[in-house]
Amino acid sequence: MDLSYILNELGEERSQYFNAVAPPIMQTSNFAFRKVDELGKAFDDEMSGYLYSRGINPTLDILRQKLAALDGAEDALVFNSGAAAIFAAVLANVKTGDHIVSVKSPYTWAQRMFDVILPRFGVETTYIDGTQIENFHQAVRPNTTVIYLESPNSWSYALQDLRAVAAFAREKGIVTICDNSYCTPVYQRPVEMGIDISLQSATKYIGGHSDVVAGVISGSHAMMKKIFDSEYLNIGSGIQPFNAWLLIRGLRTLPIRLKQVTETTSRVVEYLKNHPKVEEVIFPLDPSFPQYELAKKQMDGGCGLLTIVYKTDSRKEIVRFCESLQHMMMAVSWGGHESLIIPRCAGIKPEHFNPEKKEHRMIRIYLGLESADYLIADLDQAFGAG
Ligand SMILES: *Cc1c(COP(=O)(O)O)cnc(C)c1O
Repeated sequence: MDLSYILNELGEERSQYFNAVAPPIMQTSNFAFRKVDELGKAFDDEMSGYLYSRGINPTLDILRQKLAALDGAEDALVFNSGAAAIFAAVLANVKTGDHIVSVKSPYTWAQRMFDVILPRFGVETTYIDGTQIENFHQAVRPNTTVIYLESPNSWSYALQDLRAVAAFAREKGIVTICDNSYCTPVYQRPVEMGIDISLQSATKYIGGHSDVVAGVISGSHAMMKKIFDSEYLNIGSGIQPFNAWLLIRGLRTLPIRLKQVTETTSRVVEYLKNHPKVEEVIFPLDPSFPQYELAKKQMDGGCGLLTIVYKTDSRKEIVRFCESLQHMMMAVSWGGHESLIIPRCAGIKPEHFNPEKKEHRMIRIYLGLESADYLIADLDQAFGAG
């Protein structure tokens, strides 16, 4: 389906709302019925009609159609956060006694679910280095029901060969889930490569303006209905109409924002690679990246997230660099209009800082929509101060 059609028209029945170009925010909790039998039908299948906004809502429906089409999937569900999307997708596919194989160091709250919550219900997780397909072959057990992927990882940028993992899992009847937040469906479509559930934090690029927290999963209609009928309705973590509307608005400019970010990123990566204070730039679409060939094969582009290793043996120097930036802010999250940094050492007690450990000197940089020149000038003066 044409990207322009998806973003501008799909799902939008404008004649139903006065030919307004922008869709209405259907801010209602419930929907009225005239016929007892129609109410009964809505009870039987809440996903196919409007009954109550913890389930489906017309503003949300427009968004779901667009997000499913973007992913090349049959259907999509939208949650109140990326973390809620992860929780529902995983929980729906495990029961007591089951086993999960996950890539190591997945998103913090995915890992928290695997380490803290699921063990309470007798579900065990094995972490593997997902860069080698053999590691998946070795880690699965007869009771493995889920393989959890994140490609690229949002800190290490490690990739998995999505087609190979999907083919292996299909053969074994294991459900595959892939966190696709880094690429968005514009740059990578896991479902088209055979992954069962693609998920993303819509807080990042879909929203794109740092004003909404949301998450998406997509896959077959059967899988989405299974999740909708249990976890989605029961946890009640579906997105509210106003936030759904903000995501529709974000989608309109998604490709153009990504295009700008991609251009800026290649300029800033070049700058950083040539800076004497930078030991290493980690970015999956740079030829120096160990999995560059795989990245080119399965991704149509990268985003504005990259990591540098600061060349220094002093924590103070990293701190000075970070605190000297005038325009790039220090904050979590990414995918918005504004450029951000997070130094790894913020999560390490100063007395434990060890410059021999490369990770301790890492700074994650997110490049937003400011011009490359503006950002390079800011980085340059901060390196000067550091
Ligand atoms: C932010 C993020 C999430 C979680 O999304 P929230 O919307 O913050 O709950 C999941 N995965 C990745 C890779 C993320 O960066």
